[in-house]
Formats: sequence, structure tokens, C-alpha cells
Amino acid sequence: MYSEYHDEPLAELRRLADRLSGLDPAELSDDELSVDLIGLRRQLDRFDAVYTRLARAAECRGIGLEDGARSTAGWISWKTGRTPAAVHHTLKIGEVCEVLPRTARLWAAGEITTPAVEAITAARVAHADEALVACEDDLLEPALRRDHRILRVMTRHFKECALADGSRPAPTDGITLSELNGRTVVHGEFNGTAAETITHAISTFTPPPGEHDDRTAAERRAEAWTRICEVALARGTDAEPARPAVTYFTHRRTDGMQPLTIAGFTGVIGPADRDRILCDCDLTEIAVDELGLPASIGRATGTWTAGTRRAIVARDGHCRFPGCDLPAPWTDVHHVVHREHGGPSITTNGVCLCRRHHTFLHRHPDWTTTFEHQHLRVYRPDGTELDPDPWRDGPDAHAGTAMNPVTLTLTA
Ligand SMILES: [Zn+2]
Ligand SMILES: [Zn+2]
Repeated sequence: MYSEYHDEPLAELRRLADRLSGLDPAELSDDELSVDLIGLRRQLDRFDAVYTRLARAAECRGIGLEDGARSTAGWISWKTGRTPAAVHHTLKIGEVCEVLPRTARLWAAGEITTPAVEAITAARVAHADEALVACEDDLLEPALRRDHRILRVMTRHFKECALADGSRPAPTDGITLSELNGRTVVHGEFNGTAAETITHAISTFTPPPGEHDDRTAAERRAEAWTRICEVALARGTDAEPARPAVTYFTHRRTDGMQPLTIAGFTGVIGPADRDRILCDCDLTEIAVDELGLPASIGRATGTWTAGTRRAIVARDGHCRFPGCDLPAPWTDVHHVVHREHGGPSITTNGVCLCRRHHTFLHRHPDWTTTFEHQHLRVYRPDGTELDPDPWRDGPDAHAGTAMNPVTLTLTA
């Protein structure tokens, strides 16, 4: 079936594998063992690159279909014993390598690792290949330094930015409570800032393991969760939310680059959530030197002064999103014209929005709003107004000082 020449590289590889299989770790010094261990892994990564390229080529040619397999992936899975998911993962990487030829070249040359290529592959978002190609060199820079932690931060940031155009529904958060054998099972799923807040709270309230404490981490977290609920119930539902509860680090926005935002526990935060946080938070400026190390730290300043916030809360009374009546003390104060677009923190540029509607507006940059005579009007992407009745609250609501209309297109 094969020409003799074609079989040559594999025959050589088999001979090499025989030799390596004969290695006895017991006979190696510590130095030799570590050199062989890491050196072998590097070469195996290069073989991963070759295997992936061959698998992708087989898929393009439809190999295995003639023998009755449903797909080449199924055929590879059958022949190699890999799960279908593992084969699909390989084929996905093979596709990305065609989009990013420099990545493929460096992988095959052993300059970057298989996990690095997997991280870059995980950043791929449908219809955003052009942006991925534009970022290839930036992603390869930490990969070449073998700084996989920074690489993963960057690939996640890229993905968050690519997903932030508002055209894809964000996965929703949820908690379910169910009964199982007389016990209550709590299952929750969160992302973005909600995930950070919950992780931060549980971590803060979880007692450290004591010397004579043989409880598992899960048991200590359960105690923390109960304690959080007790504290929350004691404060009651009328308590104003304490702010800021959670710390994020972000860069100042510069032209052409989405600022990277990192939360302490859950890592990268998407650009829409960043804009929402910036609307209403305490901000501390940290100046960095040319090496990126903190040089001076400014004083924390709240976005809204206590007086301005009180005035806006008293004026609005509740979340101003059409149809929402969540009480104002539970809301964020949203900048109608965002701070980073020069919007000032004054009453005429601030409007109360509950967390749900605040997040919604920042995550949907194609929705627009106007803020006129203390009336927030919200328009869908097709230009139709969400609730076109401007007199919902009666004429008294417009008795305040006449204000200049402000139009905003949110661009995240
Ligand atoms: Zn906002
Ligand atoms: Zn609302």
C-alpha cells in the first residue's frame, strides 16, 4: 500500500521509540531524568503538531467514509481509541492552525507547547477570525516565553471582546433548589461579575482550616454560605448595598485597544461588564512605571458624590428602565454618557438602573437610549422604542429644571 520511501520516517520513529522504551529511570541521575523528562515532552508536543496536521488533512479528504464510517472523526476515533470529543478537539486545533500559519509553524518547530496552541484555539469565536489573525503575534509573545498563565488571560480577554458585540446571548445565571433524600441541593451557575462577587464572598467568610479541624473545604464553604445568608437576613432587604464589595483591576482605555480587566478570583471580565462597573464604583488610580510596576497609588474616589447620588435616587425613585419599579436604593447610578466618553458625574447625566437593566444596556451596545427631561427612553436595535408612552408617570414627573437632551450610543 505504501511506497517503501514513505514508510521510512515512521520506521525510524519506531526504532527510536524502541530505544527510548529501553530507558530505565532507575539508572538515570536526577539531572539526566529531568532533562529527558522535559526534553521528551517537548518532542511529543512536536509530534502532536504533526498528528493534528495529518488528522485535519484526513478530514478534508474524507478518509474513512469509503469504509462506511459516518465521518472521518468517527473513523479516527474508532482506529485510535480516542473519544469522539478528543478527536473533534484535535480537528478544531487543526482548523485554527490553518487560520494561524505562524502558530502552526512554531508548534511544529517545538517553539511553543501543545497547551499554548490549545489556549489559542479556545480563543476562537465564530465570525471573528480576522480579529484573531490580527492578534496572532500578541498571543504568540507569551506563548514563546512559555508564560501560559498570561497567555490564558490574553486569550480569554480576546474571547470576551469578540463576544461583546451584543449579537450573541450571554449565558444566563441561575440557581435551582431541589430536595434529594430529605436534603436540599443548591445548584448555581454564574458568570462575569456575579461569579466574582459570590466567589469573593464565600472566600471571605470561609474559616481557614484549624489545627484540630478535620472538616473538608466543602464543609467549611457550606458554613460560610449559611453565615452569609444570616448576615444578609439580619441586614434586611432595605439595606443599601455596600460599595465597593469587590475589587477589579483595569487599564485606562486607549485608542484601538479594549482595556483588559481582571477580577481577583475569577479572572478576566468582559468589556461590557467593565463599563457597567465603571459607571458606579470607587476608583483608585495606580500609576505604573515603565516596567509596569505600581509607582504611586492615588486616593479612592467614588464616582458619584454622596450628595449627587442622594439627589438622583430621590429624583428617580426606582429603576428608570421602562416597566421596572425596583426601588432606587437598590439600583446603580448609570452614566447616560459614559465616563470614558467624557460623561460627567452630575445629576443630569445620572439615572437609576437596577442591576439587571444596567447590565442589559451595557451588554447590548446596539440598543440606544436618550435621557430627556428625566425620562429614559430605550430603543431597540431596529430603532423602535421599547415603551413609547412618555407620560407613564404623569406630567408631574417632568416638573424639574429643563435639561438638554442627551443622546447615547453605547459602544463597548
Ligand atoms: Zn452604566
Ligand atoms: Zn430595572
